[in-house]
Amino acid sequence: TPLLDVDDLSVEYRRGRKRTMAVRDVSFTIGEGETLGLVGESGSGKSTIGKAILGLVAAHRGTIRFAGRDITHLPRTERNALTSDIQVVYQDPYSSLDPTKPIGYTLAEPIQVHDPGPREQVAERVLAMLRRVGLGEDAATRYPAQFSGGQRQRIAVARALILSPKLVVCDEPVSALDLSIQAEVINLMAGLQRESGASFLFISHDLSIVHHISDRLVVLKDGQIVEQGDAAEIYRAP
Ligand code: ADP
Ligand code: ADP
Repeated sequence: TPLLDVDDLSVEYRRGRKRTMAVRDVSFTIGEGETLGLVGESGSGKSTIGKAILGLVAAHRGTIRFAGRDITHLPRTERNALTSDIQVVYQDPYSSLDPTKPIGYTLAEPIQVHDPGPREQVAERVLAMLRRVGLGEDAATRYPAQFSGGQRQRIAVARALILSPKLVVCDEPVSALDLSIQAEVINLMAGLQRESGASFLFISHDLSIVHHISDRLVVLKDGQIVEQGDAAEIYRAP
């Protein structure tokens, strides 16, 4: 069984009388340790698919299975229990970083909630992760605003990976960064993906970025899949 199996997913937004079918009959799988790139223009439904997997929007039709288990419509407590298995990195690092808390606290918190242990062990995991994402150990006592945009995103990546999740949804994680920093963060994420063996769903509007990190690509247009296959082949095609 694939780690993630999205089968015939449709998602509809309703605002008053207005209905938008943002995602239509979308099917794909992600294998263990695989990175799937989800690309398409703005408004094509990429984020909506990510949110459906995270349980943040309801599926209108279709099924989402994680490690063989149907997670399409989970009660809140069961969904919360999935937090250690499914993590997310957003475009804005402040989505996962509290500006009022030092970095060490922000990275230790998920461990204390989902995988508690002796204080020194938790601290060592935090420091090891900070080193791995290229930040000094002194980062632990500093606050998000004291870092550059690229460093903040490294910290958000560290937070997403600190519990060794099985799946990481990355929604435009480098799109807000300077071009010169984007490749750096992509390379860091690719390295962490390989080392951790986690599966990544990598959402981006920019094929030239996403093909570097993806094994396979799904191309979306107006909520539907228009192409799906090997990343290098799709990127090379005219
Ligand atoms: P992408 O991530 O590819 O930019 P989205 O998934 O954000 O695309 O959006 C897909 C479609 O759904 C767009 O037409 C967008 O306007 C619409 N949409 C997204 N979020 C909402 C919402 N909360 N309410 C209504 N429509 C939405
Ligand atoms: P590189 O710098 O890796 O050689 P290319 O010259 O192949 O990039 O691509 C230049 C631009 O064309 C990039 O911005 C990329 O997004 C786009 N591009 C390349 N291949 C495709 C494709 N198969 N479909 C759509 N866009 C593509």
